[in-house]
Amino acid sequence: MHELGIAFHIIKEVDQLAQEKGYQHVSKVTLEVGEVSSVIPSYLIDCWNWACEHRSKYLKGCVLNVITLKGISYCEDCKETYDTVPAGRTCPHCGSGNTYLVTGDEVTIQSIDVD
Ligand SMILES: [Zn+2]
Repeated sequence: MHELGIAFHIIKEVDQLAQEKGYQHVSKVTLEVGEVSSVIPSYLIDCWNWACEHRSKYLKGCVLNVITLKGISYCEDCKETYDTVPAGRTCPHCGSGNTYLVTGDEVTIQSIDVD
C-alpha cells in the first residue's frame, strides 16, 4: 500500500496549506513523479480518489494530475549523464558501473489549483 501512504501524505500537506492560506476547496493537485520512484500513477490516482473523499477536508473531488519525470543517472568515470530506465546502473557511454541516480525517484507537489 505504498501509493495509499503517498496519497495520505500529500493530502495532509495540501490540507494543511489550504488551512493556512484560507482556501475553501482545492480542485486540482499536480504532482511530479519520478520514473524510477516505484509509484504506479494509475494506482496512485485510485488511492487518491478514495482518500480525498474519506480523509480530507478541503480536497473532496480533487483531481490528481501526475507528471512523470525522467530518470537520469550520472557516470563518475566518463562524467556523462544518461537515461536510467533503459540502461540501469551501467553507463551506456563507457560501460562503467560507477554511476548514481541524479533525478527520478522523487514525488513532489508541483502546483495546486483552488476554487
Ligand atoms: Zn560512463
